[in-house]
Amino acid sequence: MIYADYNATAPLRPEARDAMLAAFELGANPSSVHGAGRAARKTVERAREQIGGAIGSRAQDIIFTSGGTEAAALAVLGSVSALGGKATLLVSAIEHEAVIKNVGISGAPVETVYVTPAGAIDLEALKARMAGWDSEASGKPILVLMLANNETGVIQPVAEAAAIVREAGGLTICDAVQGLGKIAVNVALLGVDYLTLSAHKAGGPQGVGALWLRAGAPLKPVLLGGGQEKSLRSGTENVAGIAGFGAAAEMAVRELDAYAGLSAHRDAMESRLKTEAGVTVVGDGTPRLAGVSNFALPGFKAETQVMAMDLAGVAVSSGSACSSGKVKRSVVLGAMGYDDALAESAIRTSFGWKSDEADFERVADAWLEAARRTVLKETA
Ligand code: PLP
Repeated sequence: MIYADYNATAPLRPEARDAMLAAFELGANPSSVHGAGRAARKTVERAREQIGGAIGSRAQDIIFTSGGTEAAALAVLGSVSALGGKATLLVSAIEHEAVIKNVGISGAPVETVYVTPAGAIDLEALKARMAGWDSEASGKPILVLMLANNETGVIQPVAEAAAIVREAGGLTICDAVQGLGKIAVNVALLGVDYLTLSAHKAGGPQGVGALWLRAGAPLKPVLLGGGQEKSLRSGTENVAGIAGFGAAAEMAVRELDAYAGLSAHRDAMESRLKTEAGVTVVGDGTPRLAGVSNFALPGFKAETQVMAMDLAGVAVSSGSACSSGKVKRSVVLGAMGYDDALAESAIRTSFGWKSDEADFERVADAWLEAARRTVLKETA
């Protein structure tokens, strides 16, 4: 099988599996004071150091969660709640549902920040909005902007956007779930206040993630209970998951150059698909994650493509597939100004730490074969 769905979940890295197997043997609660408990605590704290190292932060500013979705919920709901609701959320038009759905229930007013046709946030529009900000009427502005888009791979100008918002006295929440292990992530350089991560996008296990919190950034917990994670996220830590997350993050960052090198194979695949079938590459020419290619051929339905490729032993996604198995029209492509015909025919291929040149070639072979059997035959 050729796996080209890393943005949904990356295969588990061997270092993560080893760390998890070792942690499973501990069998104790990291809050227990006895020796076995202290060993579990040590495993959690080692992983916290590894995650901190991966994003240029202090270990103590990392809060472990059950994944990227929970980290987003904590950042959005916890910041609005800590500000007593005196905030307005400025949300990019291309955020993941994990962010959007929590924004929707925060109770704070919401404004959309649009993206350019290239798929990156419109900094001029943001600047203009911030220039006239009335904090008496609107409270603190909180920008919600992802680091890299899960569907298109387009990298967002987070540092520039966060600086604009900071100047107006605001805060920035950055969903860096698709950035970790694909591009360098440094919280100080980004200048954000909250940053969310998920282990399974970087070769760690599913069901574990983290929120990085700038020291002093306002946050109230969403889950109350035993007071773990400095009372910001109660619940016994997922020790094995956290150990796997730490090991995966460390390896992913060590292999950033190898990930960046995938762009040569991706570009070769895209130029073949353009020449032989006339596909449109979404986000073409804009800084994108090296291992992501989202392309479309109007008239060739995304579901048909995904099924044909699956039959040929190639795993890819249509639209944003990590939220569920349902096929929905992409909000992201709509926000970039693409029409329905193009959006309905867009598929996302995403590669990563195990991928090589042959994988890209076989994805192109399988796709072209399916296209020739269906749409290209009709137009030939
Ligand atoms: N944010 C982005 C950009 C994602 O791609 C995903 C993927 O599912 C999430 C958040 C949610 O992360 P998790 O699956 O760990 O809840």
